[in-house]
Amino acid sequence: MLLGCIADDFTGATDLASMLVAGGMRTIQTIGVPRDRSLADAADAVVVALKSRTIDPAEAVAQSLAALVWLRAGGARQIYFKYCSTFDSTGRGNIGPVADALMQALGTDFTIACPALPANRRTTYRGHLFVGDELLSDSSMRQHPLTPMTDANLVRVLGRQTRHKVGLVAYPEVAGGAQRIRTAFERLRSDGVRYAIVDVLCDEDLVAIGAACADLPLITAGSGVALGLPQNFVRLGLLSAHTDAARLPSTGGLAAVLAGSCSEATRRQVATMAGRHPAIAIDPLTGAGADALASAAIERARSDIVAGRVVLFYSSADPGAVAAVQEKLGSGHAAALIEGVFARLAQELVALGVRRLVVAGGETSGAVVQALGVQALAIGAAIDPGVPWTMSLGEPRIALALKSGNFGADDFFDKALGMMS
Ligand code: ADP
Repeated sequence: MLLGCIADDFTGATDLASMLVAGGMRTIQTIGVPRDRSLADAADAVVVALKSRTIDPAEAVAQSLAALVWLRAGGARQIYFKYCSTFDSTGRGNIGPVADALMQALGTDFTIACPALPANRRTTYRGHLFVGDELLSDSSMRQHPLTPMTDANLVRVLGRQTRHKVGLVAYPEVAGGAQRIRTAFERLRSDGVRYAIVDVLCDEDLVAIGAACADLPLITAGSGVALGLPQNFVRLGLLSAHTDAARLPSTGGLAAVLAGSCSEATRRQVATMAGRHPAIAIDPLTGAGADALASAAIERARSDIVAGRVVLFYSSADPGAVAAVQEKLGSGHAAALIEGVFARLAQELVALGVRRLVVAGGETSGAVVQALGVQALAIGAAIDPGVPWTMSLGEPRIALALKSGNFGADDFFDKALGMMS
């Protein structure tokens, strides 16, 4: 293992893993800190996906340190702490406390903090984070239910989460290239600065920053900085520039789509697919429990599945219908019931011989992966930006495309299945 990564949420981990694969690194994403040490044997990079973004800071630190121990035992030469490109955090953390703890455990006194991802229109200038044309604090992130971002000045934001000094590598130095950035790091470091916020306007900046970070034991960033890291390992002769890192073993077997997201993009994708394939709607208001709903859905679909047709199972509904379900069942119970249905459906489908599953919805994906007992995923080629095909490690091998609700074009499901057949 060359690069060991710790991500503070699942889809963010996939985003980073996908970026590393595109850069030529064979990458595995684990779900939490795995027990099995041999999982990392065939990988250049491992991304440990935690769910630590909004949990108690002390717990986030403990989980991140456990991930660090596992990654270092696997031989990681450099550690990457991945957070969201909008620097999602609260006044208490968890970016600052986790980064402080990682720095201390690694015995280092300097790192960067760089959430920018120009491809998604997240840029930083003079330490201020922009979402498209707006300052972070003017964007919809201002009203985020868990991590409202009301200050766009990242030097200040991170400064509130750490007792260490936070500085800035401003754009003119970044535009000067890797050597200028390295010189700026040295200057800040000799001033006692431990965290450098680094300005970024375009992908070329990320590549230069990646090169400038070659010798840092710890990088903290969104997924963007990963754009420049594989080349560092190629230059050292540790990574071949010609590996097809996105190549996954092929899977035969049947295929199905599970859509538990009610996001707009997913509802369009469901409508697109329902016109062309058998489609079974899950109705949470029949009074039946999760297992009974799943079994009934399987029975309706069985002949199509066995005949090799791709069946879509969906609970996706418009906001009015979702509100009605939540009013009747309570929103927590409704979510648990529907996630339970998809968990059971996934198990029954795999028992029927399904080996390719497309899943829409972040929480829905979590429920499916857990139900199937998946510990880790090998990351393959991107279907749409930020959503790669993956392959579960362990038996049976299942190809999984796990999509957060709002990702992907209208034809995502067909495109995903086409790529994997
Ligand atoms: P997204 O990535 O779009 O947020 P998630 O799977 O994370 O999708 O979340 C969707 C949530 O909505 C899940 O908890 C799911 O169980 C729930 N849900 C799905 N369909 C319905 C429905 N018809 N009514 C109420 N809740 C639903």
